[in-house]
This record gives sequence, structure tokens and C-alpha cells, in this order.
Amino acid sequence: MNEKGLLIVFSGPSGVGKDTLLKRLLERYPNIRLSVSATTRSPRSGEENGKDYFFMSRERFQELLSQDKMLEHAEYCGNYYGTPSEPIENWLSEGKDVILEIEVQGGAQVLQKRPECVSIFVLPPSIEVLEKRLRSRGTEDEETIQKRLGAAKEEIAKVYQYGYAVVNDDLDEAADEIAAILRAEKRRSLRNKEQIERMLKNA
Ligand code: ADP
Ligand code: 5GP
Repeated sequence: MNEKGLLIVFSGPSGVGKDTLLKRLLERYPNIRLSVSATTRSPRSGEENGKDYFFMSRERFQELLSQDKMLEHAEYCGNYYGTPSEPIENWLSEGKDVILEIEVQGGAQVLQKRPECVSIFVLPPSIEVLEKRLRSRGTEDEETIQKRLGAAKEEIAKVYQYGYAVVNDDLDEAADEIAAILRAEKRRSLRNKEQIERMLKNA
């Protein structure tokens, strides 16, 4: 019944399992699109430009900002991250659901600009588990791990900005919960107003 897709803000501290959960979700729901962010951080090994991120210089990032081409942006642990607006608007009007995997400052900007969005925060079962996951990923040096753990508690304190909080303990359970949230959100009566009114008019 939905024509416009859902705009989904998906946040949580680094290492909590956001990428892993999204991979699961995308396998199950091919209609979902994942926004590719711009960033000034360096690529991790295996990351591809244009697929994982648009990797760019600070100058290029500032240029895109000054051209008003970002829906939101933030500085996180010394690097800039931002969401290019254009693909999102196109996908939403094609009826695709769009996920923004972004940190909490950017999340707050999207919640303010687009209050109809669905917002989900992923929590770890504990801070100890979060640290273990961050280390087990093996992609950051010690200094970066410390910075990210330092940011984690402040980020978790922002969980109440979000409509939903999902604990990523068991991966399958957390993925099922996210899928259930999205299914229920699609059935909100106001999201279906146009179609319902059309049906009444044709009666
Ligand atoms: P994020 O995208 O939030 O930074 P990742 O998806 O990269 O986090 O996950 C960080 C690490 O934790 C990875 O090594 C991943 O395999 C692992 N992980 C993710 N979810 C779980 C889970 N539910 N149980 C155990 N390990 C997990
Ligand atoms: P990472 O460097 O681990 O890929 O990402 C670090 C943090 O930046 C994560 O919390 C991630 O969700 C967030 N992030 C990624 N892209 C964006 C973006 O476009 N905007 C904002 N505000 N945060 C982002």
C-alpha cells in the first residue's frame, strides 16, 4: 500500500554491530537501499570508494557542504562524515526504503528535518562486550579504539532521541526485531493516508 519509502536513521556506538545487522537486513529485503556517506577518514583495508563510502579530502567535503548537497553532517573522532541528499530523495520517491547509518549528531539533524523518519538505536549488551567487539574487528589502532570507546558512552546517552532501541546480543534476534519495527512502521495509518483517501474517493 505504501508509495513513498521509509527514511530510516540507524545509529549506535562504533563496534556495536550496525554493519553486520544491515548486511543481514539487506539480504532479506532487497527493496532497502543503504545511503553511501561521504567521509574524510582513510579507507580501511577492503573498503571501496563509492561502495562503503565516498572517500574525499576535507576541501572537497567543505565544497559539497557549501553547495548544500548534504542532508546532514558531523565531525566524529577527528573526521567529517555526511549524507549526500540527492540519491535519498530519488530512492524514497521510487518507493524504496533508505537507511542512513550515521552517528548521533547527524541523527539529531535528520530527526529535526524529517520528523517522519524511523529512528533506531542499536545498543550493546554491555560496555565490556562493545569493547571486545571493537577489538575483535581488528580494523583500528589502539588510539582510535580508545577514542571510539570514549565517544560510545556519550552516544549511548543520546538513545532517547530515537524512537526505538534494539539490543544487539543475539544477531538473529536483533535483526528480527529491526525487521518487525520496519513492518509495523509501514502500517502507520498516516503513512498510508493518500492511498486510503484514493480508495474512498473511488468507492
Ligand atoms: P559497527 O558497524 O557498529 O561499527 P560491526 O558490524 O563492524 O560494527 O561489528 C563489530 C564486530 O562485532 C564485528 O567483528 C562483528 O562481526 C561483531 N558482531 C556484530 N554483531 C555481533 C553479535 N550479535 N554477536 C557477536 N559479535 C557481533
Ligand atoms: P566508521 O568510521 O566506523 O565507518 O564510522 C564512524 C561513525 O560515523 C559511525 O557511528 C557511523 O555510523 C558514522 N557515520 C557514517 N557515515 C555518516 C554520515 O554520513 N553522517 C554522520 N553524521 N555519521 C556517519
